[in-house]
Amino acid sequence: MPQKRLVGAGAALLALLAAMLCRVFLLSTDTVYAANAGQQAVSETALPRARGDFYDRNGAPLTGVVPRWYALCIPGDGSYAALFPYVPYAAQAQLYAQRNSLRPFLVEVGQDLGAAGVYCCRGAQRSLPVPIARHLLGYLDGDGHGVAGLELAYDDVLFAAGDAEVITCAVTAQGSLLTGQTPHTSTAQAGSGQGVRLTLDADIQRLAEGVAAAALQRGCILVLDVDTAEVLAAVSMPEFDPGDIAKSIAANDTSLIDRPLAAFSAGSVFKLVLAVAAYENDLDWYTHNCDGYEEIAGQIFRCAQGHAHGLVNLRGALEVSCNCFFANLGQALGPEKILETAQRMGFGTAAAVAPGLKSAAGVLPTAAQLQNPGQLAMFSFGQGSLTVTPLQIAAMLNTLADGGVLRAPAFVQGVVDAGGTLVQPFEAPEPVRVCRQSVARVLRSMLCSVVEEGTGGAALPRAGGAGGKTGTAQTGQYDADGRELLNHWFAGFWPAEAPRYTIVVLQDGVLSPEVSSAQIFARVANGLLAMESGAQTPQTP
Ligand SMILES: [Zn+2]
Repeated sequence: MPQKRLVGAGAALLALLAAMLCRVFLLSTDTVYAANAGQQAVSETALPRARGDFYDRNGAPLTGVVPRWYALCIPGDGSYAALFPYVPYAAQAQLYAQRNSLRPFLVEVGQDLGAAGVYCCRGAQRSLPVPIARHLLGYLDGDGHGVAGLELAYDDVLFAAGDAEVITCAVTAQGSLLTGQTPHTSTAQAGSGQGVRLTLDADIQRLAEGVAAAALQRGCILVLDVDTAEVLAAVSMPEFDPGDIAKSIAANDTSLIDRPLAAFSAGSVFKLVLAVAAYENDLDWYTHNCDGYEEIAGQIFRCAQGHAHGLVNLRGALEVSCNCFFANLGQALGPEKILETAQRMGFGTAAAVAPGLKSAAGVLPTAAQLQNPGQLAMFSFGQGSLTVTPLQIAAMLNTLADGGVLRAPAFVQGVVDAGGTLVQPFEAPEPVRVCRQSVARVLRSMLCSVVEEGTGGAALPRAGGAGGKTGTAQTGQYDADGRELLNHWFAGFWPAEAPRYTIVVLQDGVLSPEVSSAQIFARVANGLLAMESGAQTPQTP
C-alpha cells in the first residue's frame, strides 16, 4: 500500500536523522587563538543562529515564541557546578563530559541567569509549547537545519534569517577568563530577517487540531477557503513530537506521514468525478435500476450491504452512494472520458506545496488497464488500483463549491521580510475551469441532498446546512482477526448556500471509527460557526 511504501522509504533516512538528533547538546564551534605565547588566548564561541519563523495568514508566529537560554560555561571559575542545576536533564550528561574543557562553551539552561552573574544569551524554542501544524512545518536536525516539511523546503531562507553571532572572551591557557575581562557578543554576519508566511489561520488550525485530538486517532482534516483554495487548516494524526523524532521512529506508528499529501484508496468520494464527466459528456440523464448487485464481465459488484436501490438517477445515486449505478455509468462513459475528467481535476498529478515539496501524485489506472470492463467498473466507484490524496479530494470539492473553477490548494503565501512584507510569493498555478458553472451548481445541490436526505446526514452542522459526499474504501489491509481495514472519508463544504469553507476528513486504515468522518466534519463546521459568531471558545457537540 502507498502508506507502507511511504513509511519504508522514509525509514532509512529517519534512522540517520535519529542519530543526528541524539546531539541534544549542541552547538557552537569554538575557536581559540593563541595570543601570547600560551599564556592567554581569545576564545570565540558561535551562538546557535536564530532561525527565521513561520507565520500564519494574519502574521501570528507559529515558531520561535518561547525563549531559550544559553549560558557560557567558563572553565575554572566554578561555573560548571553553578550551572548544573539549571541545565535540562537531557543535556546534563554532556555538560558533565565537558567539565574539564580548556575553553569556554555554551550550554542550554532553563532560564536567564544574567542576574546571577552568568553570561547568558537568548535564543528561541523552535516549536510552540503545544506545537502547531507540526506535519506541515516538519522538523529540524540536531544542527538546526530542516529535514522535513516546510522546514526543509525553506531551510536556506530560514537558516540565513538570524544574525551569526559570536561570543568573544580573553582567556588564560586553562580557559578561564583573564582578570578584569568580560565576554562580549558581536555579529559576524547579519541575517536577512526573513520568514515564511503560510495560508493557515492559527485559530482554525487549533480548532481542527482540537477536533482531531478528541475524535480522530489516525487520519487527517483539511479546511480550505472556498474563494481562494488557500488551506486554512491541515491536521494529520497521529501526531509526533518535533523535539523527539526518534520516539516516532521507534514507535513505527506512521505519525511522521503528512497525510493530507499522501495517497490513499478513494472509495465513493471519487464518484463525483464520474458525475462531472456525465454532465460534460451529455450523460447526466443516465438512470439505472439497482438490484443491489451487478455482474460485469463475469464479476459481481455490490452496493453497500447488498442493498437494492431500485431506479436511480444521478442525484439519487449520489444520495445513496449506489455502486451499481456508477459501475454502469462508467461503462457508458468509457475509460478515456473518465480519465480525461479525472486528470483535468488534478488526479494522478503531484501538487506543488512549496519549493521542492510536492504531494503524492496518487495513481490513476491507464486507459489500457481500463479496457477490462471489471477494472473500469471498480474504478467507476473509486476502487481498484486508484489512489488519491486528501488534497486532491479537497481541490475537487472546492471546485464544485466555487462554481467549477479548479484552484490549486495553497499552503504558503511566500517569504516575508523582517517587516512582514511579502518579498517572494509562492506562485500557484493558474486556475482552470473544470466544468460549467451551471454543472457545478447542480452538483452542489446534489451534495446538499446527500447531507439532507442521504448517507451524509451526520455531517449536518448546527446552522447553515452543508453539502458533501461519504466514502468508505477498501484498503487490502487486515487486522489480526482478518477483518479488512477501511478508509472512511467525508468531503464537503459549509454552508450549503454560498459555501465559504471546504472541509475534508479522512480516517485511514480503521475498522470502524468511533466518531464518523461525517460527524467530525460537522464538529469542524460547528467550530467555524462558533468562531464566526464571535464565541470565546469554539464548541463541539
Ligand atoms: Zn445500488
